[in-house]
Amino acid sequence: MIYNSMSRCKELFKPLHPGTVGMYVCGPTVYGDGHLGHARPAITFDVLYRYLMHLGYKVRYVRNITDVGHLEHDADDGEDKIAKKARIEKLEPMEVVQHYLNRYHKAMDALNVLPPSIEPHASGHIIEQIEYIKKILEAGYAYVSDGSVYFDVPKFNEKYGYGRLSGRNIDELLATTRDLDGQSEKRNPTDFALWKKAAPEHIMHWPSPWSEGFPGWHLECSTMGEKYLGTEFDIHGGGMDLKFPHHECEIAQSVAHNGAQAVRYWMHNNMITINGQKMGKSLGNFITLDEFFTGTHPKLTQAYSPMVIRFFILQAHYRGTVDFSNEALQGAETALRRMLDGWKRLQDLKPSAESTVDVASLRTRCYEALDDDLNTPIVIATLFDACRIINQINDGNAKATQADIDELRDIMQTFLGDILGIRLEEGGAASLKPYEEAVDLLLDMRREAKAKKDWATSDLIRDRLAAIGFSVKDTKDGGFEWSLK
Ligand code: ZN
Repeated sequence: MIYNSMSRCKELFKPLHPGTVGMYVCGPTVYGDGHLGHARPAITFDVLYRYLMHLGYKVRYVRNITDVGHLEHDADDGEDKIAKKARIEKLEPMEVVQHYLNRYHKAMDALNVLPPSIEPHASGHIIEQIEYIKKILEAGYAYVSDGSVYFDVPKFNEKYGYGRLSGRNIDELLATTRDLDGQSEKRNPTDFALWKKAAPEHIMHWPSPWSEGFPGWHLECSTMGEKYLGTEFDIHGGGMDLKFPHHECEIAQSVAHNGAQAVRYWMHNNMITINGQKMGKSLGNFITLDEFFTGTHPKLTQAYSPMVIRFFILQAHYRGTVDFSNEALQGAETALRRMLDGWKRLQDLKPSAESTVDVASLRTRCYEALDDDLNTPIVIATLFDACRIINQINDGNAKATQADIDELRDIMQTFLGDILGIRLEEGGAASLKPYEEAVDLLLDMRREAKAKKDWATSDLIRDRLAAIGFSVKDTKDGGFEWSLK
């Protein structure tokens, strides 16, 4: 049985080993900058990880680093992306990997994504991958061809059925898969590489019984999933674009290797579009996370804080699409500010002896939403209901006891802070923009003071700003520039 989501997970989800959950998520293919596409799976599975831990499970969360075998064009053709960059820029391939990995980790920290329990590199598990291939060969579902090893998809299909996860049919696949040039060493166009003989210019290669070469991309996840989580484990996640062929191939590999499929629940987050278009370098809308945080991409009208990006992604259900636009992000920024203002107001609420509010159902509603296939938009809507109650109490339109206020505080801390992973300590500062405007305002007042030859006020504003850490420079046109020292 293949479960394609965590829908009604309360009834369905019983971990394999009581009290512990094994979870594997396909991590970044480390060849590009930490871009927006990396944010969604990371945030989706971070919320699941946080929620499972909140429920009291001990979670082993494995998120791999694809640093070898992810090829430029077709899955089995072309050049490894890391190797290509290393060759062009005359770098050691691991330098390329580390460079991108550092950037990725920095972006994940900014997004408040918790580090997984284990972050294995494909390049660090070559021996295990070779052993895995040997077993598939022994089982008869792979063949050696000119130093490469291919998985025999039609043969596997006859016995076990191929394509169940993605709903693909082998006959259709055979009819639609083009045999690319140089692929003649494969018996069938649907077959995929478990091991590839390295071309002479290929700089990342390892010895094997078949050739000096490198493992195919799909293999690393089957191998490292089994190594760290066992032959059967609870959850496997990734982006919807990985369902086929990557996860379909993973299933085939693990069934050929062990006789049974390794994964009990598959979870796939949907994709991100920008202004209704798919992200792509050729479309000029390939925006890195750093560019979002600093507002430096031409398509962005302002900077968006990491918490705004996180909140925006969680406002949609993980199986639905998310379309990024300046308008939508500004909407999320306002919404997050309202939410964090509610949290701030909550700290100063005065209790009454009597209560006119009903906070009892809020917690249940949040749990029900999370148990229903991780429905974060319903959690957010419920937390806005909590904010409405907070505002009513704050405005004197409702009364709450100390117990009500404590419950509201615990709900906001637990669901908004701990599980959705929004940093509450940032208070209402979802964006720095209001603060920047406040500095501009002070400097405008200083300019007016100068115009009136009110030197005392002008110097006071400059000196006080300097004491806080701002450096102010007067420009020739009578304006000013400022920066934080
Ligand atoms: Zn994978």
